[in-house]
Amino acid sequence: MTAHRLPYRSLALALCLGFAGTVPARADVPAPPLDPALAAALARVSAQELRATDERLVAFGTRSTFSENAGPKRGVFAARAYLVDRFRRIARDSGGRMTVALDTYTQPADPAKRIPRAVVISSVIATLKGDDPTGRTYVMSSHYDSRNTNNDDGEHDAPGADDNGSATSAVVEAARILAGLPMHGTVIFACFDAEEQGLFGSGHFAKTLKDAHVDVEGDLNSDIVGASVGDDGVKRDDTIRIFSESIPTGANAARINAIGSQNDSPSNELARFTKETADAYSTGLHGMLVWRADRFLRGGDHESFNAEGFPALRFTEPRETFAHQHQDVRVENGVQYGDLLQFMDFDYLAKVTRYNIAALASLALAPATPKVSVDTKALTNDTLLSWEAVPRAARYEVVRRLTTEPVWSAVQDAGAVTRITIPLSKDNWQFGVRAVDAEGHRSPAGFPTPVR
Ligand SMILES: [Zn+2]
Repeated sequence: MTAHRLPYRSLALALCLGFAGTVPARADVPAPPLDPALAAALARVSAQELRATDERLVAFGTRSTFSENAGPKRGVFAARAYLVDRFRRIARDSGGRMTVALDTYTQPADPAKRIPRAVVISSVIATLKGDDPTGRTYVMSSHYDSRNTNNDDGEHDAPGADDNGSATSAVVEAARILAGLPMHGTVIFACFDAEEQGLFGSGHFAKTLKDAHVDVEGDLNSDIVGASVGDDGVKRDDTIRIFSESIPTGANAARINAIGSQNDSPSNELARFTKETADAYSTGLHGMLVWRADRFLRGGDHESFNAEGFPALRFTEPRETFAHQHQDVRVENGVQYGDLLQFMDFDYLAKVTRYNIAALASLALAPATPKVSVDTKALTNDTLLSWEAVPRAARYEVVRRLTTEPVWSAVQDAGAVTRITIPLSKDNWQFGVRAVDAEGHRSPAGFPTPVR
């Protein structure tokens, strides 16, 4: 075909490619098709259920890790027993796929690590088995312990309505909503102990998964996700922050620099997939990506997963009120301190729960992420991508974006192949390959490893 017969846009593209060789016109990336069963599940998320769970958690008075001997109605072990009971009831609706267990150990005294005396640490773990024989696993996590001003005070009230009764309620609600939904990936609903002492519960559990060679492909950790009004008094109930680390522990920074993959860590790809997918569902929220492991002076249980080499991210409300966190309940100069139920917005927490479920179930419904290579043997101005075939993938898509763009900005169908040459320069673009099943579920994009 000669150039003058081409439609104007193709002509412009051909001219652009032929003469400039740089940036062609980009197609918009269409939102991924919505899964009807998942969309229906999201509509069942209940702000009333979330409120009821959080009220029960707060009613234990304190959930400090050092309140373990406070009796059947107060303290961290009473809260633990309540969570075990909730998950066991939920498991009845799972057709035998959900099991509930405790991850328990004794942490020896270590005052330098905020452990003034030996203490039993016990996390509640509900596992919903998928049918993928590889055991590919995704985690939705929270911590159920709480604290007040003195970090090892196991006696006085530490209501922890937002930190982190909010996310613990969300994890229980997500388990309730997803228990009856068949999925391919295995999903773990985790409520960790001793986050406030230094991520001890999640640290123990993430290491247990690593030692057992479990293929953990993502941890979605929520922590402080229940208040929509920040310390400036402004309500922001349409946004959730998504933190993810860019440089994995032990990574070769020089190699990352050479590849230019500083915004394409496995955790960044998980966060990108989460935003791209969950923004498309009707959750009432959009995600704000932050390429940073966590806020300054703070940390969270997702970092325990990162420390074991697993991709992980953290959800946190858009603007926090620090007078409501890690504080004794009191009024000082007319200001109410403490992490109280009165500051919670359960309609907002319902949105966060839907957002979590949309991402989590999309991960577990999709094929696995392809393992992709980019050929860098020779100096060329195109891009040769190849990847291992993924079970249940009907076809693949190549996504791309400019190195300065935060999310994928163009997509092209690659068909059922496992190798493709793209007439665009690998020097100018970031590429990813995602697996698509017969129903249209998309995996996260596999970021290519350069191969010479
Ligand atoms: Zn917290």
